[in-house]
Amino acid sequence: MNSDHKMVGVLVMTTHELWQAVLGELELSLSKANFTTWFKSTFVAEIGASDACIGVPNLFTKAWLEKKYHKEILQSLQNLTDERVRTVSYRVEARPTGVQIIDSIDPAPLTSTITTHQEANEIPPFATESVRIPSFESGEFTLNGKYTFSSFIVGKQNELAHAAAQAVSGNPGGVYNPLFLYGGVGLGKTHLLQAVGNELLRKNPTIKVLYVTSERFTNDYIQAVRSGKTQDFKNRYRNIDLLLVDDIQFIAGKESTQEEFFHTFNHLYQSNKQIVLTSDRPPKAIQQVEHRLVSRFECGMLADVGNPDYETRVAILESKCRDKNYPLDRDVMHHLATIVQSNVRELEGALNKIIAFHQFKNTLPSLESVKPILSSFNTQSQKKSVTPKILISTVAVYFDVAIEDLLGKSREKRLAFPRQIVMYLMREELKSSYPSIGNELGGRDHTTAMHAYEKICNCLSQDEKLQHDMELIKQRLYTAA
Ligand code: ADP
Ligand code: MG
Repeated sequence: MNSDHKMVGVLVMTTHELWQAVLGELELSLSKANFTTWFKSTFVAEIGASDACIGVPNLFTKAWLEKKYHKEILQSLQNLTDERVRTVSYRVEARPTGVQIIDSIDPAPLTSTITTHQEANEIPPFATESVRIPSFESGEFTLNGKYTFSSFIVGKQNELAHAAAQAVSGNPGGVYNPLFLYGGVGLGKTHLLQAVGNELLRKNPTIKVLYVTSERFTNDYIQAVRSGKTQDFKNRYRNIDLLLVDDIQFIAGKESTQEEFFHTFNHLYQSNKQIVLTSDRPPKAIQQVEHRLVSRFECGMLADVGNPDYETRVAILESKCRDKNYPLDRDVMHHLATIVQSNVRELEGALNKIIAFHQFKNTLPSLESVKPILSSFNTQSQKKSVTPKILISTVAVYFDVAIEDLLGKSREKRLAFPRQIVMYLMREELKSSYPSIGNELGGRDHTTAMHAYEKICNCLSQDEKLQHDMELIKQRLYTAA
């Protein structure tokens, strides 16, 4: 076997070109997060007459590719080599120098930016006595001890984020730095973020973990500037081993905070300190955040959390009841998991309500007795509050297009696609008739609505990225309504 340029089948391709072509195919069917996470730093390590070996950066990626993407990789390699490649294996190997990084992200080199930041060298390596170290006891930056990996239920929609968070806990400051977790509200982002902190503290109680929301970071910074104590601020945020920043999207539009965060980030990153961030959307979708920060956010690992499916919801309820030592009837539990679909926080809220209500009455919950409590969680009643107007504006905001354009005549792709999504969602979520969908969308024919619905159904069955977009849009829809 040879690792360099090779004739592959009838194609004269370098192994690098071959792998680029495979990645090109895979990228089409994967979300950006999955693609970047799993395929960044991969390359063809060796290729023989009928076998290929893919080099991957670590065991974690190896296991994941074997388990999740093997079929697609093999299929794609076969297609591109005229069926010559019959087996694929994976091994951990550093990418040879000269092989390009495979992703579209092209962050400015970290070193050049940090050196232009003159204060970087002024930071003392260790906290001086006058520096106030955030204390967990003060409740100021408290990690919730309940948010651990063992209390987190893994399902299909959060396994990537969970695995990523665990990998980071196993090797902080390693390849997956920063870890950027994103997804809708109440889906476990804060839980996972803090689980990383709790896990690392469990392994080593002396490490310095700092958990803040981005609002907290902003306020701290403003305070520091006002009171002329920016050096204290820098010491506090830079003299730590793990920085956990929750809901980073709120940094949007705050320029000097972004500037400060950028330098904090670079300082920690350069010292191989782990950074974990959460957001309600992927980095690129956070508007009014400087490009250089977005590329920092994307340069480690992106992982999304989605809405748990029915089975996961039941498993979450089982686990919460076990924790609380509360015996909940199976039928009631399944009913609860059917009714509350929006997110885990609401699911937990509904469970707590049921428990409180029945403890107060000193009775056990039954299908009959939980009905009135669950009525407000009923997704059907939530759906009733979503109007076509809300739906149209939610999609317009999501795709960053004007409502008039969405309803207008232009067939430009950047408008036609969101328009089809609107039509699909009106049918699927609002159960509107095709003629009324056509009407809502600037007086279009009902056949246009039918076509759009079918097209999006079709795309959804194959396109992981679209599935993800749809999830996020629905999340926004029901939280907006
Ligand atoms: P987010 O930060 O995404 O808005 P949180 O992390 O605050 O969501 O989660 C909301 C609640 O749901 C928390 O109490 C959390 O413990 C719980 N939760 C979310 N996902 C899971 C899960 N997969 N397993 C167990 N509990 C979960
Ligand atoms: Mg949160």
